[in-house]
Amino acid sequence: MSRAKLIDIGINLTDPMFRGIYRGTQKHQDMFYSTVGCHPTRCGEFEQSNPDQYLSELQNLIEKNKTKIIAVGECGLDFDRLEFCPKDIQLKYFEKQFDLSEQTELPMFLHCRNSHAEFLDIMRRNRDRFVGGVVHSFDGTKEEAAAIIDLDLYIGINGCSLKTEANLETLKSIPSERLMIETDAPWCGVKNTHAGSKYIKTTFPTKKKWEIGHCLKDRNEPCHIIQILEIMAAVREDDPLELANTLYNNTIKVFFPNI
Ligand SMILES: [Zn+2]
Repeated sequence: MSRAKLIDIGINLTDPMFRGIYRGTQKHQDMFYSTVGCHPTRCGEFEQSNPDQYLSELQNLIEKNKTKIIAVGECGLDFDRLEFCPKDIQLKYFEKQFDLSEQTELPMFLHCRNSHAEFLDIMRRNRDRFVGGVVHSFDGTKEEAAAIIDLDLYIGINGCSLKTEANLETLKSIPSERLMIETDAPWCGVKNTHAGSKYIKTTFPTKKKWEIGHCLKDRNEPCHIIQILEIMAAVREDDPLELANTLYNNTIKVFFPNI
């Protein structure tokens, strides 16, 4: 059967009619989900008022949106961007957020930049306080990947994970059962100068100024996820569809365990 091409000329996805609530009960969900947590570069927010109150507000947000919030995060450490938040504040409030994963029993969406030793130290100390999770936008070494897998966690790959030949070698070393895929759009796109870019097969019409039907230059877009898959499959010498299937199943297992 050939694939049917349809254009829906009128669709209002944000209309309250689509929220899935009928006669007061939630019957179905839209396909968008979120995480709740404090990014390492924003951890200063904890101390702008009362840190305990800030944390309990995050917890309330999770409790009030239980069907939509599927992870605590993103949280972690980012020592590349200390100008936004100093190290001691990052360390303190990354660890504080394990209270959330412990109370809610949600997995974690984690961020680690140029901070591997401290990150692992905190993860190991708190590993029994959360069910599992993914270290997203991974750009570490083979050894660092192995240490994360050792903690029974997953590794998220986007354009930032595919910049150098060493990155690609690391990617090869990770079992596909431990990988997930992401764009991190609008950030972390694959640039021509990145080692992974030579494996891209699908390109999109792009303009410097926004124009309908085009991507915007230097803005990563959700559709670019196919490029990440193409690079991952080529580097690992995997069949792209098989790899996509594995990545999908890994993601379901961690973030949608009850499906
Ligand atoms: Zn991140």
